[in-house]
Amino acid sequence: MHIDLHTHSNVSDGTDTPTRLVLNARAAGLATVALTDHDTLDGIQEARAAGRRIGIHVVPGVELSAEVDGREVHLLGYGTRLDHRDLNAELTRIRLGRRNRLPAMLDKLARLGVPLTMAEVEAQAGAAGTALGRPHVADALIAKGKVANRQEAFERFLDRNGPAFVPRPAAELTAGIDLLHAAGAAVVLAHPGIRGMDEVLTGELIEMLAREHGLDGIEVDYPLHDASTRDLYHRLGARLDLVRTGSSDYHGTGKVGHDLGCVLTREPAFRELLSRVAARGGVVR
Ligand code: AMP
Ligand code: ZN
Ligand code: FE
Ligand code: FE
Repeated sequence: MHIDLHTHSNVSDGTDTPTRLVLNARAAGLATVALTDHDTLDGIQEARAAGRRIGIHVVPGVELSAEVDGREVHLLGYGTRLDHRDLNAELTRIRLGRRNRLPAMLDKLARLGVPLTMAEVEAQAGAAGTALGRPHVADALIAKGKVANRQEAFERFLDRNGPAFVPRPAAELTAGIDLLHAAGAAVVLAHPGIRGMDEVLTGELIEMLAREHGLDGIEVDYPLHDASTRDLYHRLGARLDLVRTGSSDYHGTGKVGHDLGCVLTREPAFRELLSRVAARGGVVR
């Protein structure tokens, strides 16, 4: 009974349609997969319909962009109700901000000698619509032969410290946790050990989120977490009574090293997560 709780479809910046992602989950031997697109719930209904057809449990999820001290961190909401008004308003605000900063980014790229039009970025959208962001700029650079892959686009131009970076809005961290809880979700701190996020997500801060905002879990096992990082978060999670999850952060062909099911969540942790979703009034099945 293999469980992968962090994946992206082409509704945000993955490359599989939601249906294709669920088919690929079955091919990878998964019994349960959570769809956690960035700042959108738009793929959930399609993915769950596909899951019902082929016998895969699809957990409705979202990866909310949050920030603390001006630094970006990610929250995973599981069992999220799709119709919560305030959550949908916040997701829309963040998606529009993600998109509306692209012209400023294209200006910077033009001044760096790499001109790109908005139409060229939109051509890379997949089903992303208003969820357009840096990955699609990267794809447009690939299409023009300027870079070989998304990784190179981020390293040369788009990373936080890169020459074409433009910030975008996100939810304040504790407000984001509260908002996901209000929509019935159990909230898991995504990949706390990756570069950049580890600097702001101190043990002290995670402890405060657990004690004062009811943070439900922490993503311990993750492709970019080495053994000592995993050990650190396992121990912190145990001390704070957090559900300890593991996941791939699959993006289709959009990210290498994140194959579907390459990192898994243990069954007892998943059962505990579902009981927390039930307690918050979210979508359990
Ligand atoms: P944006 O939301 O527009 O700021 O773009 C951020 C998204 O780009 C992240 O959520 C990742 O999915 C993706 N991303 C960030 N760094 C990389 C990278 N080095 N290679 C591929 N995708 C990346
Ligand atoms: Zn992504
Ligand atoms: Fe993330
Ligand atoms: Fe992700």
